[in-house]
Amino acid sequence: MLFNKIVDVFEQLEKITSGNKIRQILADFFKKCPKSELKIATYLLSGRISSEYKGVITGMSNSLVIRAIALASGKDKSLVIKIFKKTGDAGLTAQKLVGRKRASLSVKRVFQSLHRIAKVKGSKSQDIKIIILTNLLKIVSSKEAKYISRLVVGKMRLGAGDRAILDALSIAFTGSKQARKALDNAYQVNPDLGDLAERIAKKKIKGITSVGVLFKRPIKSMLAQRSKSMQEIFNKIPGEMSVEEKYDGERMQVHIKGKNIRIFSRRLEDISQQYPDVVDCIRQNIRCKSAILDGECCAVDKKGKLLHFQTLMQRRRKYDIEKYIKKIPVCLFLFDILYLNNKSYLQKSYPERYKALKSTVKRQTSCVRLANRIVTKDPKKIQKFFKKMLKKGSEGIMIKSLAKDSVYKAGTRGWLWVKWKKEYAKGMVDTFDLVVVGAYRGKGKRAFSYGSVLCAVYDKKSKKYNTFTKLGTGFTDKNLRELPKILNKYKSKEKPFNVNAKKEIKPDVWFKPRIVVEVLGAEITKSPLHTANGLALRFPRFLRFRPDKSARQATSIREVVQFYRKK
Ligand code: AMP
Repeated sequence: MLFNKIVDVFEQLEKITSGNKIRQILADFFKKCPKSELKIATYLLSGRISSEYKGVITGMSNSLVIRAIALASGKDKSLVIKIFKKTGDAGLTAQKLVGRKRASLSVKRVFQSLHRIAKVKGSKSQDIKIIILTNLLKIVSSKEAKYISRLVVGKMRLGAGDRAILDALSIAFTGSKQARKALDNAYQVNPDLGDLAERIAKKKIKGITSVGVLFKRPIKSMLAQRSKSMQEIFNKIPGEMSVEEKYDGERMQVHIKGKNIRIFSRRLEDISQQYPDVVDCIRQNIRCKSAILDGECCAVDKKGKLLHFQTLMQRRRKYDIEKYIKKIPVCLFLFDILYLNNKSYLQKSYPERYKALKSTVKRQTSCVRLANRIVTKDPKKIQKFFKKMLKKGSEGIMIKSLAKDSVYKAGTRGWLWVKWKKEYAKGMVDTFDLVVVGAYRGKGKRAFSYGSVLCAVYDKKSKKYNTFTKLGTGFTDKNLRELPKILNKYKSKEKPFNVNAKKEIKPDVWFKPRIVVEVLGAEITKSPLHTANGLALRFPRFLRFRPDKSARQATSIREVVQFYRKK
């Protein structure tokens, strides 16, 4: 298949916003796409060159692509920069300056070239990446150059996200959206669109219902619901519940196969290299042939006292890992198991899973323990446990259903797990993970930094970030110094296409939605100023940066609306 067939789809998608039409265009393409190329075509249509969790990226920024465009077109770099500044888009810049009239490159060839770019590592890697891209841009049409450049920088600017692709696969290969639920379930344990496309094309719905758990393929983490009152929790979770300490650290999904151990983050990245101490600790203290364990890793001091999340974040590094293992020891608190000795435990109840988890823990040591918990339905005991946890410095508690249907709902925020945090006790609303999309210059004492930032929540449907609050309090001097350093990388000349803000909102600087901050709020009110369904967070207070969360994992507009309705 020629690459320009995919370009045709990109072109059509770019012109429309209607979800139905997007799905139909994709479905029509999938039906016609040769089976042998379906996998790579699906990756490209999702704007990637592999599954998200494998994280294969070209590693090229706009500035490297600009250099390749200059070389491929023979134009002066300053002219390329000028056009880039005007368009703000590497794709449009390439389209204007490079490209032959006739295109005849195959999808495979383009895909392979993009992978070759991704593979180049080490010194001179930037120059080699530029050469490969230059050679590619020299032999494609200008439209192809546009989308190749966008794929390279990882910004497709299209409305087709993973959900639309899953819908379209269902329509293309089963004739309707009927397979969508099965596809969703499969996607939670196998977040690989290309693989799912191949499976459903080959064996229809059977191909996806047979998707199982695999070593080294991370499963989307189960998430917790937030609740407004304890009474609501008792209504939603009748009977006995597991009341657990809510640790303030980093989620870890540990995959074990014999002596092989890999650790995945909540963003499904392989973080094993950053935590060789945890890998060793698991090897020594967990007994099983194979397993997938779920837990939270926290920094601890020599006496085992839990340390702040910010301390743990210092362990997220490429260099000096050994030094930091000694400086900041950690402990993994396990609370769940998803797979044991070649059997999936996802559909088993929490009591069954917990029993299995316990059976794997040979020894509880200073580096791996079962999460602190009590099993009860007595509100007084829950309150006592909650207070004890707060005294210890924990975030609060997690309350989990022990009912027959308490399965592991991968990637889902439901009522089987509910979080109850100290902010409720303080009479505050809750904490929210918000995405910074703009900032206002600082004045007076804050002249060296930003005075406040514009924060947004994520709308999964439209894939846009909707403004929700202006945040100016809670920053320490250190935070203020960090703000420009962290944010300026993502400066955008104009309002990013995926930010939804009213005309009256005019920050001094716009940012592409990348950085997530945790914010404590006092009240959600109606506000005509913000686009989060007309809701705004009042009296927000900065708590910390959340480098462990991606913008898409920020609080969603749906959660905010649900929370407001419960008031
Ligand atoms: P939140 O990030 O506020 O939605 O809270 C959910 C997160 O709490 C999970 O993703 C875990 O990283 C973390 N967590 C801490 N302790 C527990 C626990 N005992 N059970 C489940 N999740 C926990």
